[in-house]
Amino acid sequence: MEVLQALDSQVLIGLVAALVAIVVGAVFLFSSRKPASRACLDPEKFKEFKLVKRTKLSHNVAKFTFILPKTDSILGLPIGQHLSCRGKDSQGEEVIKSYTPTTLDSDVGYFELVIKMYPQGRMSHHFREMRMGDSLAVKGPKGRFKYQPGQVSAFGMLAGGSGITPMYQVSRAILENPEDKTKVHLIYANVTLEDILLKEELDLLAKRYPDRFKIYYVLNQPPEVWDGGVGFVSKEMIKAHCPAPAADIKILRCGPPPMNKAMGEHLDALGYSPEMQFQF
Ligand SMILES: Cc1cc2nc3c(=O)[nH]c(=O)nc-3n(C[C@H](O)[C@H](O)[C@H](O)COP(=O)(O)OP(=O)(O)OC[C@H]3O[C@@H](n4cnc5c(N)ncnc54)[C@H](O)[C@@H]3O)c2cc1C
Repeated sequence: MEVLQALDSQVLIGLVAALVAIVVGAVFLFSSRKPASRACLDPEKFKEFKLVKRTKLSHNVAKFTFILPKTDSILGLPIGQHLSCRGKDSQGEEVIKSYTPTTLDSDVGYFELVIKMYPQGRMSHHFREMRMGDSLAVKGPKGRFKYQPGQVSAFGMLAGGSGITPMYQVSRAILENPEDKTKVHLIYANVTLEDILLKEELDLLAKRYPDRFKIYYVLNQPPEVWDGGVGFVSKEMIKAHCPAPAADIKILRCGPPPMNKAMGEHLDALGYSPEMQFQF
């Protein structure tokens, strides 16, 4: 009888232990899956997102707002990465190009793209033709750069035109994280004052975080009164406005191909090693 009772209690203990393990496992699985289920991107498959708002920012730039499937959905794009967007050019041919949202995963239920539309641009045509309620096919995350807080002590950033969007995304993530002490030094080049994208947003960041975020605007055709740089971004400008070469700094660049090439040459000449440079 005692043997049976001992056996019964052993079985009972075993059953309780198994039950606890199942409950703990289920809770772990549920809680670890929850954030992933809120993320909408698929790296293998294009997914459609509906356009709900289009705001004209200048004669050739607009902000496109896309809604996510649920009000608590997030895009799920790591900082420093971008999206592949698929569309049709004016000949009806498929075209795929990269874009970086200006929103972060802290912006829940939607994402935004700021798009510069070139007159002859193939994907530009697709965006120009998009109307409210149309869907955009998006795949991702994509990219070799992933930002981790504390990765470097300071970033230099060299942006041209629409190349500002990855810089804005990384800067926002750094500055809006109070634990992150990384400094950001941005040089942003455009043709005219009107061409500067996200100027209000950038100036707001500089005002809010004066010790951690500095911008130097460079214009090819400056207005009469102008205290920024003039012409193309030069070696001297980089020397004056970016962190000096060091193991714990990185210079990011994103602009039109000729600018990227010129910036690479300037950085090499100034002594920045390949590890200290990254081109989006
Ligand atoms: C990581 C990454 C993120 C990007 N994020 C954004 C973004 O958020 N918003 C955005 O608007 N663009 C962004 N771009 C640029 C985008 O991918 C396309 O290159 C751009 O929209 C032009 O594509 P298109 O098919 O319309 O033009 P194309 O058919 O490729 O080119 C048409 C004409 O435009 C000129 N052109 C093309 N690209 C540029 C350029 N960058 N600067 C100057 N002239 C150019 C070409 O010389 C050509 O004359 C990003 C690029 C990369 C690599």
